[in-house]
Amino acid sequence: MLIFPLHVDNSRKIIHIDMDAFFASIEQRDNPELRGKPVIIAQDPRLSGGRGVVSTCSYEARVFGVHSAMSAIEALELCPQGIFVSGHYDKYVAVSQQVREIFGRYSELVQAASIDEAYLDVTENKIGAKSAMRVAKLIQHDIWTELHLTCSAGVSYNKFLAKIASDWEKPHGLTLIAPDAAKDFLAKLPVEKFHGVGKATVPKLHELGIFTGGDLQEANPLDLAERFGVYGWELYLKANGIHESRVISSRERKSVGKERTYSQFLHGEAAAKRELERLSERVAKSLQSHRLKGNIVVVKLRYEDFTTLTKRKSLSVKFDDAKALTEAASEIFDSIEPSEKGIRLLGVTVSGFEPTQASLEEASQEPLSNVE
Ligand SMILES: [Mg+2]
Repeated sequence: MLIFPLHVDNSRKIIHIDMDAFFASIEQRDNPELRGKPVIIAQDPRLSGGRGVVSTCSYEARVFGVHSAMSAIEALELCPQGIFVSGHYDKYVAVSQQVREIFGRYSELVQAASIDEAYLDVTENKIGAKSAMRVAKLIQHDIWTELHLTCSAGVSYNKFLAKIASDWEKPHGLTLIAPDAAKDFLAKLPVEKFHGVGKATVPKLHELGIFTGGDLQEANPLDLAERFGVYGWELYLKANGIHESRVISSRERKSVGKERTYSQFLHGEAAAKRELERLSERVAKSLQSHRLKGNIVVVKLRYEDFTTLTKRKSLSVKFDDAKALTEAASEIFDSIEPSEKGIRLLGVTVSGFEPTQASLEEASQEPLSNVE
C-alpha cells in the first residue's frame, strides 16, 4: 500500500560476487583426490570427540543435506562417506586476497562482505565497460582461468538486489535483476529469501500475513515500523527495490563491529561474557578477512529498559585476534557498574585501524591518480 511516493535510485551498477563453496573448492582444487567427492570442512567428529561445526562443504556433500553451520556429527550422519578436512584458514585468506586483486582491476569501489563475498560498484569502472554483466563475466573468467575456482555473480542497481541475484543460481551463476523487473521479482520472493530476514523474524512476518515481497509491498509501512522499528521500515523499502547503502571500499572502513539482540534477555556476568566472546570471535574473523588491525575496542550494552551505554578502551598495540579482543571486551564489561536489569543487546566494535602489510602493498599498486 503506497501511502507516499517512493523514489527509487536505480542509477548505480552493483555486482555481488560469492565464491562457490569457497573453502571446499580450494581443497578440491589443490588435492585431485578430493575432486567430485563430498568434502566437509570441519573437524572429523570421530577424532574430535564429537565436536566441530561445518564451515562449508562441497556441492557433492550438499546433495546429502549437509550445509554450513551444521554440527559435524549431524553431517557425518547425513553423509557417512563424507571426507572431513579441518581446513587451512591462512590459505583461504591468501586466496581471498588473490580474488580481491582481480576485483581491483575492474573497480575502485570494492567492499568485502566476508572472506568469500564482495560488492563492487561498477557504475564507473576501470575498463570503461557500459555493461555491468560484461564486467561480471570478465571477473568470473579471470577467477576461473587464474585461480581455477568458480563464483556466482548477481548484478543489479543496489546491494540488496545484487546479493539476492547472486544467490539465485549457484554454482557458477550469473543473474541480472534489471531496474524495471525488480519490483515484480521481489513481489514473488518469499520473505525467507530476503537477505537480512533472520529465522526469528520469519514467523513474526507470517503472523501478520506477510509471506512474500508482494505482501510487504502491500503492507502499511507504519504498521511495519510500529512492529519492527527501523528494521520494519527498511524491509518495506527493500521490498520496493530501495536500498541506499553505498559500496564502501575496505580502505574507507573505519570500524568493524558485530551486535546481537536477545529476545531472551541476558542475566548475569557469565552469560554476558559468553556472548562477548562469541561476538569477539566474529569481529576478529571479519578483521582478518579485511586484513585490518585496530586498537580501540568499544562495547555497547542495551538493557531491557532500553537504556544504552557504550564504553571504549584503547590498547597500546593493534591486533586482529579473538583472544585479545575477548579479553579487552571482558575488561570493559568488568568496568561497567553491575546491574540487575536484563541485557537485550550486546555489541563489540574495533576501530583505530592501520592497514596491514598486504593492503599497503595493494594500495601501493594503484596508479597515483586513483589513490583517494
Ligand atoms: Mg560463498
